[in-house]
Amino acid sequence: MGSLIGKSLIEIKDIVLKQNGLVEHALELSKWLYRKDISSFDEIITIPMILRRALAINSCIGKYNPIQVIESADKTRKYLFENSQGQRFESVYMPSAKRNTLCISTQSGCRMGCGFCLTGKMDFKGNLTAHDILNQYLSIPERKKVNRIVIMGMGEPFDNFNEIKRAIEIFTAEWGVAFGASNITISTVGLHEPLKLFLENPFCNLAISLNNPISQERKELMPIENSNPIYEIANLLRNKPIKKPLRLSFEYVALGGVNIAERHAIAIAELLEGLKYHLNIIPWNSHAGSSFKSPSDLELNAFINCLNSNGVLTAIRQSRGQDIGAACGQMAGEKNNK
Ligand code: SAH
Ligand code: SF4
Repeated sequence: MGSLIGKSLIEIKDIVLKQNGLVEHALELSKWLYRKDISSFDEIITIPMILRRALAINSCIGKYNPIQVIESADKTRKYLFENSQGQRFESVYMPSAKRNTLCISTQSGCRMGCGFCLTGKMDFKGNLTAHDILNQYLSIPERKKVNRIVIMGMGEPFDNFNEIKRAIEIFTAEWGVAFGASNITISTVGLHEPLKLFLENPFCNLAISLNNPISQERKELMPIENSNPIYEIANLLRNKPIKKPLRLSFEYVALGGVNIAERHAIAIAELLEGLKYHLNIIPWNSHAGSSFKSPSDLELNAFINCLNSNGVLTAIRQSRGQDIGAACGQMAGEKNNK
């Protein structure tokens, strides 16, 4: 039975018209689907009962619940999902005094194989659909409180470009969730072809995972640098700047003794010359079986001072949910007994 979550307004119209409904019924259905917490068509009291019954025969809403929830000491909650294909993936809800952020996944696993990331080490189980992506927001009890979405969970979103584009269109559309595009950030290693498509028509904020400005060294951390070099990403961004209210940022996983020396700070300033951006530093989150080290405070502060003196605006991203394996790069889509 076809799920409606993940469908665009055009597709919903098609379904409704086939059941002899009207265009305005399609708009109602879509708003109820994406903005209200419904679990059956019968709850949609603003469309005729005969249409509700007809819809229920051929389709379903498609919402499914997480199979596990774990809460961290800092109130971060990690949700584990399993879709009908048996793919597992995680979302992380992070409440704070200023804002409540939901981090969502786009793939079960990841094909990019970055050496410092646990997701890159698990088996790749495939792309998530727009349905799976939206469900991570629609099915959690905190959905009404979420005011920022970051697409920084499991997977490389630009390796699943069509589905993530479709999902964000539904998140931001007036007929959909109506979530502000400037409150959504997509994080990517910067695959060139989808990046070009994105820059033609940016649909949310963009974060590029930089992690090392020196190509030879970036290759060792991120194999994708071989085919999609960072200097070309910087050129693409300079040629098509992202316009306000959307923003560009870079992420930088700080690895003790590896990528936070003075020469890295200087090379970052040079590489990103002429761009308007922020640099977010994420001290490496550890996972078993890795030989990387989190940086010491001394090392990190020296790096930040060096960045500042080279004119690079930085912020340190506080890691949340480390005790439950919910922080950046710790997600492996496994059941946890904690
Ligand atoms: N695949 C996308 C989005 C998911 S990873 C990307 O790489 O951008 C989200 C962020 O977490 C990336 O910036 C990545 O560099 C960072 N990250 C991965 N593993 C990490 C770890 N162990 N500690 C800290 N950050 C990590
Ligand atoms: Fe994939 Fe991002 Fe992890 Fe790299 S850092 S392996 S791209 S999830």
